[in-house]
Amino acid sequence: MTDIQEFKRRLLDLEARAVARTDRAMEAAGIGRDTVHDSGDASHATAAASEQFTEAELSAGTLGEIRAALGRIDAGTFGACAVDGAPIEEARLAAVPWAAHCLVHAEQAEAADDDTMPTL
Ligand SMILES: [Zn+2]
Repeated sequence: MTDIQEFKRRLLDLEARAVARTDRAMEAAGIGRDTVHDSGDASHATAAASEQFTEAELSAGTLGEIRAALGRIDAGTFGACAVDGAPIEEARLAAVPWAAHCLVHAEQAEAADDDTMPTL
């Protein structure tokens, strides 16, 4: 059986780490600061900032997933697929504690994402 408290502990730990990572990435990108760059370094600074910002956005996205999972624990719906309510595989939850879908629906969601980004 699923040990919700253990997942909650892990998710809170992950949340703290994601917050720290996001803060660091945002700081490195100069977001939230009144940093003024020398005009000579502007192009380099802009390129570096946009790369850092992408990383910050990814971290923020993961943070949102983690917080949503913590919300599901409080709501008593943690471990149930958001689409069909079926139990999410234990191995999947162990690997991705913030997983909101069973394997079938996670794959369908990924397939849907692929449609918005045609690569072939
Ligand atoms: Zn499902």
